Amino acid sequence: MNTVLTSSPEKAAAFIRAGDVVAFPTETVYGLGADSFNPDAVEKIFEAKGRPQDNPLIVHVANLGQIEGLAADVTDTAWRLIDRFFPGPLTIILRRHPDVPSIVTAGLDTVGIRMPSHPVAQEFLTACDTPVAAPSANLSGRPSPTSWQTVHANLNGRISCILKGGRTDVGIESTVLDCSRRTPMVLRAGGVTLEDLQEIVPRTRMADEIPDRPLSPGQVHRHYVPNASVQLVSHPSEAQPSASAAFIGLDAPSNGAAFGLTRMCESKEAYAHELFDFFYECDRLDMETIYCQKVDEKGLGRGLMDRLLRAAQR
Ligand code: AMP
Ligand code: MG
Repeated sequence: MNTVLTSSPEKAAAFIRAGDVVAFPTETVYGLGADSFNPDAVEKIFEAKGRPQDNPLIVHVANLGQIEGLAADVTDTAWRLIDRFFPGPLTIILRRHPDVPSIVTAGLDTVGIRMPSHPVAQEFLTACDTPVAAPSANLSGRPSPTSWQTVHANLNGRISCILKGGRTDVGIESTVLDCSRRTPMVLRAGGVTLEDLQEIVPRTRMADEIPDRPLSPGQVHRHYVPNASVQLVSHPSEAQPSASAAFIGLDAPSNGAAFGLTRMCESKEAYAHELFDFFYECDRLDMETIYCQKVDEKGLGRGLMDRLLRAAQR
């Protein structure tokens, strides 16, 4: 398959309307989208990524009006969160409208909905004129792409079109918040922090604080794995420098030149922005080990530590 590269949201949207799949930029990571009401088109996403069929997709909307066609009922709590955080890096899980194809929700009775704030994503979604189901635009199990070049390296020849935008801003995926039950539960930490959510709905909890919680299907799959082995360290002095070892973190190693590659980040936000891009660069340079400095699990630190722990799991 020839993969068309374009900077035109309108041109990319024409592929969606024709039932094909398109990678597009958002403020979190690049997504791989298809018309959410066309099951054959959605099937192509799973094929291109090699994604397990039991992992549901997030549906991306251009405007609040599209939510009604996707969710069976939107609770008052959900509306308050939507009011505050849409558009932005928050996915809200609600009871699904019967018209949503089951391939999108992996057979669940709930659906994940998000409205991206990225201006190119908004233009694209508006031109699609239908909600767009989209997971991250990587081969399944690999880190999420934060540049169109990385999408190209993952999926060239496997998808119809890549809509080019710049590097993504947040760098890790959206927060997934289950609003289908009374206590909103964060199933996946991400761009919107627990503290942000609790300002609007104080009873919001992390799912892992709740016994017998329902798991988000995606969270049981292997994720975010570069070829190199990822080792987590509290301080750069714990890393073993060598030409095939890389380091990323908030503090500079005293012997930085002894590493094959290093990246210093001045904040947790900058760290999240850089992380997946750094993983891909380490793979291009054949690094054997990537040392990642741990961060405290506050604010964006929760989402960042979640990605680091998963990447370190073999
Ligand atoms: P990705 O877009 O590749 O980051 O994957 C989407 C994430 O959202 C996965 O972790 C899914 O399990 C999660 N997700 C999507 N829809 C639902 C849903 N209805 N219930 C629970 N989790 C969901
Ligand atoms: Mg993904």
